[in-house]
Amino acid sequence: MMPLEVLKHAQDEFLDFNGQGASVIEMSHRSKEYQAVAQQAEQDLRDLLNIPSNYKVLFLQGGGRGQFAAVPLNLLNGSKKADYIVTGAWSKYATKEAKKFGDIRTIEGTETVDGVVKLAPLPEFREDADYVYYCSNETIHGIERFETPKIKSGILINDASSEFLSKPMDVTQFGLVFAGAQKNVAPAGLTIVIVRDDLIGKAAEYCPTIMDYKINADKESMYNTPPTFCWYMAGLVFKWLKQKGGLAVMEQENIAKAAYLYDYLDSTDFYSNNIDPSCRSRMNVPFFLKNEELNDKFLAEAKACGLTTLKGHRDLGGMRASIYNAMPMEGVKALVAFMDKFAAANK
Ligand SMILES: *Cc1c(COP(=O)(O)O)cnc(C)c1O
Repeated sequence: MMPLEVLKHAQDEFLDFNGQGASVIEMSHRSKEYQAVAQQAEQDLRDLLNIPSNYKVLFLQGGGRGQFAAVPLNLLNGSKKADYIVTGAWSKYATKEAKKFGDIRTIEGTETVDGVVKLAPLPEFREDADYVYYCSNETIHGIERFETPKIKSGILINDASSEFLSKPMDVTQFGLVFAGAQKNVAPAGLTIVIVRDDLIGKAAEYCPTIMDYKINADKESMYNTPPTFCWYMAGLVFKWLKQKGGLAVMEQENIAKAAYLYDYLDSTDFYSNNIDPSCRSRMNVPFFLKNEELNDKFLAEAKACGLTTLKGHRDLGGMRASIYNAMPMEGVKALVAFMDKFAAANK
């Protein structure tokens, strides 16, 4: 979901951007007008996250999956060892990709106790590892790590795709953070990478040029034609977030939305969520009907009430409510009201 104000703003100026007589999607990425759009978006993101000047912000393509390759290609440059914490599907895919490029150790990041999934204690990381990798919000499994893993030395990498900008983030804890924009920021097609200066310029010689952080940083994310519309839309969302009061305000809203839904799930036997409250995602809430034979009926009746995109990920089944930044509390309340009515009617 995108903020309605942002969609309307984009609609209003879609045919004629800033009196140019052309749409923003028709402008050259090298034009003065578009450069201003791109630079303002970067500045607003820097303001939102307090990104220090020794970090570069890159606006790239290739998605989260692209970064699964780009991270090892650029950063497996010493011992070629890296430790990957696996807490769900996305960190698992990242680990699989990284294994093509070096000595990757998989660390189980979760454990199941009495049917409840929780974060597992982390072992010591390898001291000579080039980096430690984790995913702060597992979009499919609905597991969020609210505390940054402690590493004694070395570099921490975070795939923040599905919680990016849902709350304040201290970028300085990381060597690199990336986020596919399509989850919480902009239309699909843009990947944001925030990377510390000293990690740039050490890519493997076989790293494709398009994935080399140095080339992308030197060319200000315009080595190839960037996804101009997505970048512009991201800029509108950054402005929207600033107008709302910033990420601390957003965090409070997200806490309230998630609590409303989880409290309801915990209050009924009709539905279940088996993630420990300490690591329940505030963005993606998977849940199951006790009687799975009712799944299709649930989805059809929800759709008739205007509640869509509730089907769980194909790997997990069940249901999933994604309640990203743009989802208002009324949306969550409407879902819970529907779920309660459905439960009463199908007991
Ligand atoms: C969606 C997602 C990805 C993959 O993103 P693509 O842009 O489709 O490659 C990676 N990591 C996380 C956490 C995601 O939610």
